[in-house]
Amino acid sequence: MEESLNLKNFVNGNFVATEKQLENVEPAQGRILSYIPRSGVEEVDAAVVAAKNAFASWSQTTLDARAELLDAVADEIESHTEEFALLESRDTGKPLSLARDVDIPRAISNFRFFAGAVRHASLDANPMADAINYTQRTPLGVVALITPWNLPLYLLSWKTAPALAMGNTIVAKPSELTPHTATRLAEVFSKVGLPDGVFNLVHGLGAEVGDALVKHPDVSAVSFTGGTSTGKLVAANAAPAFKKLSLELGGKNPTVVFADCDFEKAVAGTLRAAFTNQGEICLCGSRILVEESIFDAFTDALVERTSKMVVGDPLNEETQCGALISAAHRDKVERYIALGQEEGGMIRCGGTRPVIEGDCAQGFFVAPTIISGLAPTCRTASEEIFGPVVTIHPFKDEPEALALANAGRYGLAASVWTQDLKRGHTFAQSLRTGMVWVNTWLKRDLRVPFGGMKDSGVGREGGRYSLDFFSESRNICIELGD
Ligand code: NAD
Repeated sequence: MEESLNLKNFVNGNFVATEKQLENVEPAQGRILSYIPRSGVEEVDAAVVAAKNAFASWSQTTLDARAELLDAVADEIESHTEEFALLESRDTGKPLSLARDVDIPRAISNFRFFAGAVRHASLDANPMADAINYTQRTPLGVVALITPWNLPLYLLSWKTAPALAMGNTIVAKPSELTPHTATRLAEVFSKVGLPDGVFNLVHGLGAEVGDALVKHPDVSAVSFTGGTSTGKLVAANAAPAFKKLSLELGGKNPTVVFADCDFEKAVAGTLRAAFTNQGEICLCGSRILVEESIFDAFTDALVERTSKMVVGDPLNEETQCGALISAAHRDKVERYIALGQEEGGMIRCGGTRPVIEGDCAQGFFVAPTIISGLAPTCRTASEEIFGPVVTIHPFKDEPEALALANAGRYGLAASVWTQDLKRGHTFAQSLRTGMVWVNTWLKRDLRVPFGGMKDSGVGREGGRYSLDFFSESRNICIELGD
């Protein structure tokens, strides 16, 4: 990493520096890790031109050729898993073990999966008595991929793989807080022989690079993952040109625990859903709803397990909770902890900055925090905190659990813990969230629809949903005569 302290954009197959730069801080150490380009309209223009020029030939390549390239990308990342994991961990503050076991393997499987998906995809034919209709899928052109900082390579690959598989060319804009693995991915594309201009990367601020990309007249579609308020801006900016738009936004996901759950499994699952990646996953279960009869026992067990979590240097193998992404985000999370107390909540564990010695003494750490005693409608219990802070609330019966789970502006994901399978089904079907896990959390099948309802987004990613998004489905009707 020390050799690449000045990161560059990747445009038309070349790494290009810019005059202006931004500092990129290592969250666990609170020190500058690297400098990245502070790009603007000019750099965005150059990348879009490169992508537009590359589209003519890339869109004509065969599905097999594209699938082979995606497989080669997967192999190349896999053979450098440790390097990618270290970059991701230092850039985000997440435990190295998590990056090694989850982020990087999932990014690899995204490339492999979409290589397979296009190889095996079939299209419809709808015969009539005197004609035949058949569906054709054509690529969109230049697509903008805008991604957040919490799962940098994982989410970028989730968009890049299907966009390339369908024959589009790309301008990607990763979060300015986590530029490293995206840059390393550009090197991989270069190495495996992706033609120049097919994948371009422009670093910089959202309000500058992201904004210019979304508004660019030669960008046909925008796939955005990030916060709900940014998503609103992106939607407004994309609307006048009727751009195809996919929005994966924020959440405040309920974990619903019924008294008939497998208690130990539910405690472990709730803990994992609450604090994986420091609670910085859009799918984290940050509103824990527990049936009254087991509320005290469950809360005590969860508090006990949470208090024992190892918080600290992400590079230590035993660390379970690393640093938050930035000082500003740490401060925001702490403001919610203070607000929770003002709103009448009781801090059951955490609530403070842990004291970390050594290299990480200046890192942005917050101990995993559980707050009880809050009204479920208060701000702390209904606004997205996106950190290691959860609220826990009792419910009386199933109708109340459903009303609480469905309350609020978000509708991304939920998990439900019960041994009554019938209840699991019926409750899951009544939830207003795009995804529901019953007796598990974050179990992943790349074929299933991924996305949210309400303020959590528009559109679905995953499997054929991604292939549909990154293409136009057209009908061709051939008259056959008598
Ligand atoms: P963010 O909205 O601040 O930024 C996301 C990306 O958008 C970044 O690359 C940023 O530079 C860019 N951006 C900022 N302003 C822009 C603008 N005006 N035009 C275009 N692009 C702009 O989000 P974040 O803080 O990076 O990520 C955290 C948020 O992302 C949370 O709300 C989380 O729930 C959400 N998220 C959602 C999902 C999902 O799949 N639903 C997944 C991960 C994260």
